[in-house]
Amino acid sequence: MAGLDPEDWSGIRAMGHQMLDALFDRMEHVGEGPVWQSMPHDARDALRTGFPEQGQSLEELHGRFTDFVVPYGNGNTHPGFMGWVHGAGTPVGMLAEMLAGGMNANCGGRSHAANEVEREVIRWALSMVGMPEDGSGCLVTGSSMANFISIITASRAQDISLRSQGTGGRKMVGYAATTAHGCLPRAFDLAGFGSDALRRVPVLADHRMDLIALKRMIREDREAGYIPFMVAGTAGTVDCGAIDDLAGIEAIARENGLWFHVDAAFGALACLSFRFQKALSGIEKADSLAFDFHKWAQVPYDAGCVLVRDRKAHAAAFAQSLDYLTREPRGLASGAPWFCDFGPDLSRGFRALKVWMTLGHYGSERMGQMVEECCGVATNLAHRVQMTPGLILLAPVTLNIVCFGIDGLLDQDVSELVQDLHESGVAAPSTTRINGRLAVRAAIVNHRTTTADTDRMLDAVIALAADRRA
Ligand SMILES: *Cc1c(COP(=O)(O)O)cnc(C)c1O
Repeated sequence: MAGLDPEDWSGIRAMGHQMLDALFDRMEHVGEGPVWQSMPHDARDALRTGFPEQGQSLEELHGRFTDFVVPYGNGNTHPGFMGWVHGAGTPVGMLAEMLAGGMNANCGGRSHAANEVEREVIRWALSMVGMPEDGSGCLVTGSSMANFISIITASRAQDISLRSQGTGGRKMVGYAATTAHGCLPRAFDLAGFGSDALRRVPVLADHRMDLIALKRMIREDREAGYIPFMVAGTAGTVDCGAIDDLAGIEAIARENGLWFHVDAAFGALACLSFRFQKALSGIEKADSLAFDFHKWAQVPYDAGCVLVRDRKAHAAAFAQSLDYLTREPRGLASGAPWFCDFGPDLSRGFRALKVWMTLGHYGSERMGQMVEECCGVATNLAHRVQMTPGLILLAPVTLNIVCFGIDGLLDQDVSELVQDLHESGVAAPSTTRINGRLAVRAAIVNHRTTTADTDRMLDAVIALAADRRA
């Protein structure tokens, strides 16, 4: 017996079935325990055994996983989880992860079927947001990477010599609203432009980018010798879910010869609902778009996606020709362009399978319904906030995010109240700052969350707030 395969396949097969049963048991009853609980010291210590010299049995390792890992999860599969922007996963995605693990495909390139699955998934994504089917794209870790790839592509489309020469003192600048996600300034930082090169455009009272300010900032930068190259709109801001005027931003981008990027990390999924078509209008004109399948599409982590309208510009920004990666007309080394031509990763896992199976199983109609149901839960929560004395809705509910303040409490109290709530195990909202005030923020990205769950959260908030006021 050579290699690492077992001598007795029947033993590991039985173990595998047992693990799968445990997974299903957990998923079926996921809402029964606490959303989250702090990991005790002995559980942390139990995981610090050092690199074992002698291997341990799978039974033993699975037992430690069951005892010390599973109970102390992130909580995002639980219906009471409504913090940040997290997907909850599905049993279908879980199975797909297992199947992909069995194939162990490397999707960096070459001619094999896993790449065809990814190509199909990219076509689905392009059609979901209304971009032309001959665009390109690839699956990545998340929207942070997808936004980074977009910024790199946009800047190289402006000046391809950036690839070999670097910025060389060129003062490349881009634009995004003050409400844009932190991964955008970070992308400017990583790209070598510096985070200050992402100009932050103020927002209006409706939390959307001020387009008059955008025009003025572009003009002033030009006059001062800067090189504006892109503008990013957000479809679904991370703080309160606002959708920038994408069509308006696109028009300004075209007038000024700028690349039009959209960060639609979770908002892209709202394209599946007719209700949001008007609000999202202009998204289909994006030169590049970043979004996540692991958020509102409920695909297990991680699964981000970048889409680029001009496939040539996308490849021009990343493709390399290297002797050990020669593309041939036939055989295993055929099938160009390869996915490694569309981003910084060479080795890449088979992320596409879990996307393909999740969307393939539920279909666009049911996914659109799920999106609308999440928004319905958010609307109900917002109504209840408005009807509750002492609570105040701090931002309009465009999609699925509800931000509210608690009267009579300082920001520090609100922050501690949310920490108490997490430790109670009842619910897990997060916080953000809206117009300078600390808000409790419930983002209903979780397909398992119902109004009963948000009611439970709000009841707990009301009780904890009363305790703190007293
Ligand atoms: C979550 C999010 C991101 C970052 O995405 P990751 O998948 O966490 O890297 C970027 N933009 C917005 C609007 C987001 O909500």
